Amino acid sequence: MEIIDDLLPSLKGLGIAAELKAIRDYFDKCQPDFTRFMAEYGIHCPSGCGSCCEHFIPDITRSEALLIAAYILCSKEKDALMDRLESGNGDGCPLYDLHDADHHCTIYPVRPLICRMFLSACSSDKNGVNRFSFCHGIDGNGIQLENLNRFQPMSYYGEKLRALEGNGSDAKLLPEAVSKAINRIGLEMMYSGYFSDDGGESNPA
Ligand code: SF4
Ligand code: SF4
Repeated sequence: MEIIDDLLPSLKGLGIAAELKAIRDYFDKCQPDFTRFMAEYGIHCPSGCGSCCEHFIPDITRSEALLIAAYILCSKEKDALMDRLESGNGDGCPLYDLHDADHHCTIYPVRPLICRMFLSACSSDKNGVNRFSFCHGIDGNGIQLENLNRFQPMSYYGEKLRALEGNGSDAKLLPEAVSKAINRIGLEMMYSGYFSDDGGESNPA
């Protein structure tokens, strides 16, 4: 998360700096678990597939929204990303780009937790037994799903995410949550001197 790493020093002392650092650190901590899960079971998204985002809009927490907002505000693609956010049709995620061959996700480095866990984590049933379901984009034939209880389920990561906000955070759909976060973070960044009054960067990362 280079953009966020570069941004944090200029936000020192502001409330959003601590929140951004906490969510950045949390994702840095849990991402290796998801990578290891996929590696150990030999699970890979087929090249070019991104269909899970086409008719899905994630609910995200305030911290996740802040991270995406900071990324958008500091991105060289800021205007295009803002346009995307504002022009969503309400069916699929507005940050999905059908034509981006790599990930299709235009904010991939700061994508929300649920998006990181697609195919990368199991769920837990009411008896505490871990289960895993393949998405429609992958053929799971031949993949042995043994010893799933070696891994933490999605609910574990979700609880830790909510705990970052004292369990008091309401999740909101991504477009609304990020728009609110952009307003908040933009004001704080302006206050910090990161942006000049005319909207240009006075303290670029
Ligand atoms: S999680 Fe499934 S639908 Fe989404 S990109 Fe991977 S294979 Fe495709
Ligand atoms: S944030 Fe990215 S990964 Fe998540 S649904 Fe939107 S486009 Fe897909």
